[in-house]
Amino acid sequence: MTTSTNRYDVAIIGLGAMGSAAAWHLARRGQRVIGFDRFHPPHMMGSTHGDTRGIREAYYEGPSYVPFVRRAYELWDELSGLVGQQLFTQTGALSLGVEGASLVEGVLASAREHDIAVDYMDSSELKKRYPGVMATDDLVGVLEQRGGMIEIEPALNGQLDQAARHGAELHFDEPVDKWLPQDMDDIESPVTINTAKGTYEAERMVVTAGAWNAGLLGKLNLPLMVTRQVMFWFEPKRNPEAFEVGALPFWMWERGPQDFAYGFPNVGKGFKLGHHQPLDEVEPSGYSRELTERDESNVRYWLERTFPDVGGKLLRAETCLYTHTPDAHFLLDIHPKRPNIVVASPCSGHGFKFAPAIGEALADLSMHRKTEHDLELFRIDRFVEPLGAQTAAAD
Ligand SMILES: Cc1cc2nc3c(=O)[nH]c(=O)nc-3n(C[C@H](O)[C@H](O)[C@H](O)COP(=O)(O)OP(=O)(O)OC[C@H]3O[C@@H](n4cnc5c(N)ncnc54)[C@H](O)[C@@H]3O)c2cc1C
Repeated sequence: MTTSTNRYDVAIIGLGAMGSAAAWHLARRGQRVIGFDRFHPPHMMGSTHGDTRGIREAYYEGPSYVPFVRRAYELWDELSGLVGQQLFTQTGALSLGVEGASLVEGVLASAREHDIAVDYMDSSELKKRYPGVMATDDLVGVLEQRGGMIEIEPALNGQLDQAARHGAELHFDEPVDKWLPQDMDDIESPVTINTAKGTYEAERMVVTAGAWNAGLLGKLNLPLMVTRQVMFWFEPKRNPEAFEVGALPFWMWERGPQDFAYGFPNVGKGFKLGHHQPLDEVEPSGYSRELTERDESNVRYWLERTFPDVGGKLLRAETCLYTHTPDAHFLLDIHPKRPNIVVASPCSGHGFKFAPAIGEALADLSMHRKTEHDLELFRIDRFVEPLGAQTAAAD
């Protein structure tokens, strides 16, 4: 066992999409950063893998996300320059549903409020433009040109690499077993972090452990629910040209309150899609990552009603984890009783696109306890009452 008594400015627990972004921003501001991950990111055990994530500007989840995603676009562009690889591919983003569906209405509301150009299409227009889509008479669609996809693994590697170049010490395959304030009575107390390999001290801490957040912050009793999701890659069985980049945008389709799917044009690895599974609750360290017959038959049934030319050979399938908040908005805030600890749970299935902007906001909160980003929607006090300092430590 090695023991370190070195003290760091900030320790980051979890180096996935959000922790690596925070490490990048903090390290380039000259902070002495140490980061830990229980695996070696990018890996397939959490929420950040599977080639591509969608990015879009006319945000149906709420117009107040728009400035945040605009900043993320700038930072993805900057990161692309730094790593020498284009991480973003513009494909457009197409939102589908019946008239009045919350997805379609939400996109239109954000577009109106932020002056984002969108094309509204009825069923006959959809049939003309997207022959691969089964457009029933009541289907409508909204296209925004700026939507597209980010390449996950190069993006995550890029953030980690930038953090390391600026001096961050990144400890992979080293789970944090326990953290404790050094002085329980001092709300500003530095923390001691224990892993199987050592003991570390940090003035401040950022918790970005994804599906494991609730366990690491046990005393806060955060109402986070982790669900198992599956991503599929299919070979189209007919008309493959209808599903290529240029022919089909990144798309989302709301067919009912519990019937929501998204997918990507084929970039040579197959037609990728996921169908939200809002109720498949699991424990992040002990769930089955095997594909079941039911997983496959459900998604094939869905495809027959939406993209009937797609369901050819199943090329690949991977499970992934969503960490849901009750209202599906992120949690990005300072710990309610320990101002030197920042907590981030930005998933609910839509956080990746914001990662570099979230990292920037986390760095601001950690260093200055405030940020110019509007995080009002993401406050922790919507779930947790302020606690006494004695109860704020993790167990
Ligand atoms: C199938 C799927 C599709 C999605 N599609 C989109 C999309 O199209 N667009 C979009 O914007 N978002 C999307 N998302 C959401 C997005 O991927 C997540 O918001 C994002 O990946 C969350 O990143 P994270 O850093 O919070 O979690 P993770 O990347 O999972 O990172 C958490 C890290 O913490 C580590 N960790 C846990 N416990 C410990 C410990 N005790 N000690 C040390 N390390 C620890 C884990 O090993 C892990 O690496 C999707 C998610 C899924 C699952």
